[in-house]
Amino acid sequence: MKRIAVIGAGPSGLAMLRAFQSAKAKGAEIPEVVCFEKQSDWGGLWNYTWRTGVDENGEPVHCSMYRYLWTNGPKEGLEFADYSFEEHFGKQIASYPPRAVMMDYIEGRVKKADVRKWIRFSTVVRWVEYNEATGDFTVTVHDMEKDSVYKERFDHVVCASGHFSSPNVPEYPGFDQFYGRIVHAHDFRDAREFAGQDVLLVGASYSAEDIGSQCWKYGAKSVTTSYRSAPMGFNWPDNWEEKPALVKVEGKTAFFKDGSSKEIDSIILCTGYKHYFPFLPDDLRLKTKNRLATADLYKGVVYVHNPKMFYLGMQDQWFTFNMFDAQAWYVRDIILGRIAVPEDKQVLLDDVAEREAREEAQDDVKYAIKYQGAYVKELIADTDYPSFDVDGACYAFFEWKQHKIDDIMGFRNNSYKSLMTGTMAPTHHTPWKDALDDSMEAYLKN
Ligand SMILES: Cc1cc2nc3c(=O)[nH]c(=O)nc-3n(C[C@H](O)[C@H](O)[C@H](O)COP(=O)(O)OP(=O)(O)OC[C@H]3O[C@@H](n4cnc5c(N)ncnc54)[C@H](O)[C@@H]3O)c2cc1C
Repeated sequence: MKRIAVIGAGPSGLAMLRAFQSAKAKGAEIPEVVCFEKQSDWGGLWNYTWRTGVDENGEPVHCSMYRYLWTNGPKEGLEFADYSFEEHFGKQIASYPPRAVMMDYIEGRVKKADVRKWIRFSTVVRWVEYNEATGDFTVTVHDMEKDSVYKERFDHVVCASGHFSSPNVPEYPGFDQFYGRIVHAHDFRDAREFAGQDVLLVGASYSAEDIGSQCWKYGAKSVTTSYRSAPMGFNWPDNWEEKPALVKVEGKTAFFKDGSSKEIDSIILCTGYKHYFPFLPDDLRLKTKNRLATADLYKGVVYVHNPKMFYLGMQDQWFTFNMFDAQAWYVRDIILGRIAVPEDKQVLLDDVAEREAREEAQDDVKYAIKYQGAYVKELIADTDYPSFDVDGACYAFFEWKQHKIDDIMGFRNNSYKSLMTGTMAPTHHTPWKDALDDSMEAYLKN
């Protein structure tokens, strides 16, 4: 019997487990699947912890999420095609669930599939090696509970370790002398810490937008965001301003590229993440930018330099959960021999080059959303993953983008129709900016 190692039990790794379990439920013979997860529970980034720095075992904390995080796009764009929100909650719920609600939904599907027994928790993958002579992999792991390091052999390795956990941390002149707190978004946990403060967020992407909004919602005195290439350009509240690039800080004063300055209390670096795989040698390690067409992945999942190795969820993401599913079902079918990977390496490289060229053809948000939608469609066409209205999901993302332009602090008050069940989401009982208690209980009450 073949053996498959899955690294990580976040949404991507769990999609892999669910894909195999669904084939088994339909009568297929499946390989032995072993998932290694360094945290003590599943959910990946959605498994929230208050910890920063290192975890209880001295390993780098994986979580980059924060206490009051609500989904930053409508849930109708990420819904599992084989497990709807209505199936999980017994009713349709509002469109932008807080983190705890999402975690409950993620767990619901895999509890139903009964795949927890395939996961070895608190087990860190330390090293993966390909054995040329035998054509398989040796995976070395550290079981933190037993404090035991051991090796096992596998026919395939599926890397689903995520890529929003290792922070990219720039340094600016004066940081070492700054009179306040400097923190990367990865370590940001609770917006209330910044209440009453003048906060500077370095960056102009999703983290800056959302963490700035959190700080604003929970009482920051002012929010300043600084951009390198272009401002976000939303219609911000009065106490929020966008500045060009940060140049230096002196004491509590931040200086910007246009010569202006501002007194600030804290700095939050929203400067992105790195694809980081300390457990992979050169010949297996993906080296890519955060983009829609990842380098070196045929069909976005098969590692071109060793097609027995797969990666899930390594793309920049408009689509998330249902794209991870599409990928996992595709990888499963390669492993089960239902889909053939071309043997000529040049064909694999050409596939990557074509995806890159197509991504680069236009620099436009709608184009990018449609591009990733087409990718999801391409993969699910070849497997038995339930097909769904991917164009409808793209349209929901277009609407979401417009809602943000209309009202950046109010876009989460909008509702969308489920593409899986056709039901319209109810309007949430409280506008996002006033919903300070975002517990699951508070969110789900009628
Ligand atoms: C702040 C933030 C907000 C986000 N908000 C949204 C949102 O609103 N909606 C949305 O759809 N997406 C959102 N995302 C995107 C997010 O990438 C996906 O939702 C999803 O979590 C990705 O799943 P994954 O399984 O690929 O990676 P992860 O969730 O990162 O899971 C990877 C898993 O691998 C494990 N792992 C890593 N290294 C090892 C190792 N060496 N050994 C064993 N296990 C290992 C980790 O512990 C983790 O459990 C957000 C991301 C961030 C950072």
